[in-house]
Amino acid sequence: MARIKYLYNPETCQYERVKAKPLDTALNVGIFLALSIIFAIFLTFILGKYYKTEQELSLQEENQELLEHYNLLNKELQDVHAILQSIQHRDDNIYRVIFEAEPIPTSIRTAGSGGTDKYRELLKKGLKKEKLIVNTKQKIDNLKRMMYVQTKSYDEIAKLVKDKSKMLACMPAIQPISNKQLTRLTSGFGIRIHPIYKVGQFHPGIDFAAPMNTPIYATGDGTIEKAEYEGGYGNHVKINHGYGYKTLYGHMSSFVVKPGQKIKRGELIGYVGSTGFSTAPHVHYEVIYNGEQVNPVYYFFKDLTAEEYEKVLELASKENQSLS
Ligand SMILES: [Zn+2]
Repeated sequence: MARIKYLYNPETCQYERVKAKPLDTALNVGIFLALSIIFAIFLTFILGKYYKTEQELSLQEENQELLEHYNLLNKELQDVHAILQSIQHRDDNIYRVIFEAEPIPTSIRTAGSGGTDKYRELLKKGLKKEKLIVNTKQKIDNLKRMMYVQTKSYDEIAKLVKDKSKMLACMPAIQPISNKQLTRLTSGFGIRIHPIYKVGQFHPGIDFAAPMNTPIYATGDGTIEKAEYEGGYGNHVKINHGYGYKTLYGHMSSFVVKPGQKIKRGELIGYVGSTGFSTAPHVHYEVIYNGEQVNPVYYFFKDLTAEEYEKVLELASKENQSLS
């Protein structure tokens, strides 16, 4: 408000009111307004800094709560990460080892998901706690990636298990004749005295002595490759089991299968006889792996008890004469 000014007039010996010029009045009003605005801004700033409104206070509280939740979430993510790492460890060192699969390289397991570029959008927002938010997002993405790789690994193992069980069904794993009907295991694999030539000769199979016409069974799943008569083996059957395995059954009285026929483990293929080079009824049984005759004694594990198997091993190792 403009003050009223008086000046002393010596001529009239009186104080006379000085009339303010309009320009001065306007200037005064302007200064007053400017000062008021500055003061108002200053006051708002001070109050805003030290005194919060109820809404601000509640938002602040909410922010604090969110921050605590975020920190808690991060801690939980760390725990989940540790669990997943232990699953990965078990996968590489147990499951994949059992099924002969290579461990998954660490570089694939921990492959990043695009560095911080992916989080640029988040960073752009200029949030105060952006580092915390980006870290959390990165942890979640890493977990997702790790879980994806782990799922793929389990898929692969499941396939291997399936293949393995098929392979186990095909591998020769039982005796060609029932243990009850087995008179004796006459001759094992290796150098044996030939029954006709009476000289030491490599015996490429095992001879199971059994009464004439005792049933002979396929020792694993496969396809009949041969069912024919031939001088040495007499009536014999050869089965191709796949996975590098074949079995041969010799000196049969007769066979009941034909080449090309699919066969299951335990299915009847023929009967014990003494055809070909043979001195008594028996089945000459060979296991061939990758084209080479191997000791069949290691392929009976499925239907024998530990004691029976011990006995078979003992009999098979005896130096005796083969029945050919
Ligand atoms: Zn033999």
